[in-house]
Amino acid sequence: MEPDDRTEAAVREAFSLLDHEIRLEILLALLEDWHAVYTAPKSYAELMDAVGMRDSGKFNYHLDKLRGVYVRQVEDGYVPTASVTALYRAVLAHRPTESLEYEPTAIDSTCPRCDSAAILRYDRGFVSVECTACDDWPGFTYPFPKNGFAGRSARAVARATARRARYHIGLARDGQCPFCAGTTTVDVPLDDIADDTPVEIACDTCTFLVGVEPLSPLLFEDRVASALGDIGVDLERPDWELPTPTTWVESRDPVRLALEVEDEAGTATIVVDEALAVRSVAVD
Ligand SMILES: [Zn+2]
Ligand SMILES: [Zn+2]
Repeated sequence: MEPDDRTEAAVREAFSLLDHEIRLEILLALLEDWHAVYTAPKSYAELMDAVGMRDSGKFNYHLDKLRGVYVRQVEDGYVPTASVTALYRAVLAHRPTESLEYEPTAIDSTCPRCDSAAILRYDRGFVSVECTACDDWPGFTYPFPKNGFAGRSARAVARATARRARYHIGLARDGQCPFCAGTTTVDVPLDDIADDTPVEIACDTCTFLVGVEPLSPLLFEDRVASALGDIGVDLERPDWELPTPTTWVESRDPVRLALEVEDEAGTATIVVDEALAVRSVAVD
């Protein structure tokens, strides 16, 4: 089988195992008392009781189907596996059976190109911050689970999405997919570099893919954050409110890309390689 066929077969098997009422009852009983690594195992009798079954043959048959995939047997009974708790978390985060109609809402932020008011939209699970006046700014878009809207104003959602994106993209630049922990690949379009040319960071396994201005993935790096702090950049602000660096290719062999950021207290020059690994940081 091709790797893609194997993935498809694995997804099919993982989802189809859930398509049975008794198996769902077993999993829900385990998830009800799930406390991360502190989860106390449920004994066989407790689990059978929680599911409300008397027929141990039938119960065993379904428990056996789940064993190793969604249920793990430990010394004192049964606990949910990391796979089923991740699926459970995905449902809590994305609330697939609930709908959320969200009208475009003004937020306390402006377009980095024309200074007009910015608005926040929510569509297909993506938060977008856009300019209300011009087409010069492509805007900011990042996936944000529906659950993140609970208890947050539009302004707080914009901030939460920007923080989430910054951490995720920083981790992805560092070589780890924030969703599946797989390795990532960074693609810097050297032949086409301009101040706002996006670099692409993609997961080698799952569907994670972002196109970002090259400064954003570096904000996670201590040296870069402290240099930007020294020249007066307020990193509490969302990425689109930060100064746009002047970007140029300093050398092709080895690849060195320079980003020069100016703010009120000075200039920071950050040099990175083709994987966006920081090679030097200087403040003037
Ligand atoms: Zn604008
Ligand atoms: Zn991934």
